[in-house]
Amino acid sequence: MERLLEHIGDAKKIGISGHVNPDGDCVGSCLAVYNFLREKCPELDIQIFLNPIPTIFSFLAGASDIQQADENDNDRIFDLYISLDCGDTSRLGPAGTYFRNAKRRICIDHHLGSHGFADWELVDSEASSTCELVFDLIEPSDISIAVAECIYTGMVTDTGVFQYSCTHSSTMKAAGFLMDLGIDYPRIVERVFYEKTFEQNQIMGRALLNARRYLDNRCIASVITKKEMDEFGVLPKHMEGIVSQLRVTRDAEVSIFLYETENYHFKVSLRSSDLVNVAEIAAAYGGGGHAKAAGCGVQGDPWKAIDTIVKKVKQQLN
Ligand code: 5GP
Ligand code: MN
Repeated sequence: MERLLEHIGDAKKIGISGHVNPDGDCVGSCLAVYNFLREKCPELDIQIFLNPIPTIFSFLAGASDIQQADENDNDRIFDLYISLDCGDTSRLGPAGTYFRNAKRRICIDHHLGSHGFADWELVDSEASSTCELVFDLIEPSDISIAVAECIYTGMVTDTGVFQYSCTHSSTMKAAGFLMDLGIDYPRIVERVFYEKTFEQNQIMGRALLNARRYLDNRCIASVITKKEMDEFGVLPKHMEGIVSQLRVTRDAEVSIFLYETENYHFKVSLRSSDLVNVAEIAAAYGGGGHAKAAGCGVQGDPWKAIDTIVKKVKQQLN
């Protein structure tokens, strides 16, 4: 088994980033690698850049060290740049500049189609999470509590608390190892997966009330506008979980959720129970993701956009 340390080489200045709209696996994997390298190689200059992270992840060690990248800063040259949970320079956001300018690049990811992105890559679209890949890349005896909490966080969020079909026995074994280290796993699960603010619950309620069903109820869709988000005082990061709640509606094979990011620009989240590959549908709109969880952006009337997405779902269901 190859280990991450073997790929550090003589790099003295290392940058770490994940995808825009950072989720638990992105934040967890970036902070796991950050904390691990700081503990093992304190002499190195290690910097971590992510777009603002949801506050539910701020308990993780190193979260306060996260910086915002400047896409115009071409003078900051890293010996090595590590992209986690992201296999596409444009999805790195402003940190894409640092990645492009780095002397050497590593990609650790589990999204479809992330190949050919870096000098060394560990890309496995079957893996439950990028955090599980990070777990495999670190010698077990080198995993501290701080690193374990980061890895566990990413596994919990990307597997829906070890429920989705991306959960393998290897995931459970890794999680068991992390539990034995003494992490506070019930608290992590509660904080990063189940707990919602009052306003988040209310906007989810509104999204469920707005929902419409298609294709003999095999597809369910909903929309939240900017006006509704303002009414409830919620931000894009508070929309997490809505598309999954739609999907567990009885008979639904696919759920589609759109929320408005700016005037008539909508972020689309897609989830599939089994039969439909939603990554293919998202790719048709310039997005991507996994077979059962994917996303993209659309412009214009949201319900008309849903009509065209539903047509693509129908093609796959037939
Ligand atoms: P979510 O719906 O939770 O935002 O994203 C589901 C999955 O699809 C995640 O793995 C996320 O990284 C990916 N994803 C979401 N939006 C996009 C997008 O616009 N482009 C690409 N390539 N992947 C996306
Ligand atoms: Mn992930």
